[in-house]
Amino acid sequence: MQRPTAEEWEQALLKTTDLVQPCSNPSCEQKWYVFDNTNTPKCPFCGTKHQGTLPVLDLYYKFKEDVWKPENHRLMVYSNQYLFQWHVNRNMVRNEKLTKEQKIPVGYFTFYNNKWVLVNQKLTGLKDLTNDKEIGINEMVELEDGKKLLLSKEDGGRVVVITMANK
Ligand SMILES: [Zn+2]
Repeated sequence: MQRPTAEEWEQALLKTTDLVQPCSNPSCEQKWYVFDNTNTPKCPFCGTKHQGTLPVLDLYYKFKEDVWKPENHRLMVYSNQYLFQWHVNRNMVRNEKLTKEQKIPVGYFTFYNNKWVLVNQKLTGLKDLTNDKEIGINEMVELEDGKKLLLSKEDGGRVVVITMANK
């Protein structure tokens, strides 16, 4: 009974895919590596250090009114990384039952004017909680250390807390 179910294994593997980073060394044989949760990450295969700041997003869910708890799920940001429904709402589970519509990204991350930003493509309830500001569709919000973003106002909607690593 102690053994994880197949679904638990699958979810753990999918969480790990959210931790991968591209290696900046063009001749690296692996190209991608899993973030090591350190402040100064480097590729374990070729030893290349990560260049520039690295936003790390920790996902939280609403446990009860005004109480948010960590999901133990992190999303690493890199240029043109996508945000999906399964990050936004905990009632949406990433598995083979998702429809095509549910697999379309709802936003993406990019480095723009020397800032990391999230560009909102489809989220109707995105809000910068730190600055009490709604972020409309086709608008962007800067990723800053300690900032909190509400991804959805719907039941199961998550909050992300941003940490800037490699400062
Ligand atoms: Zn490498």
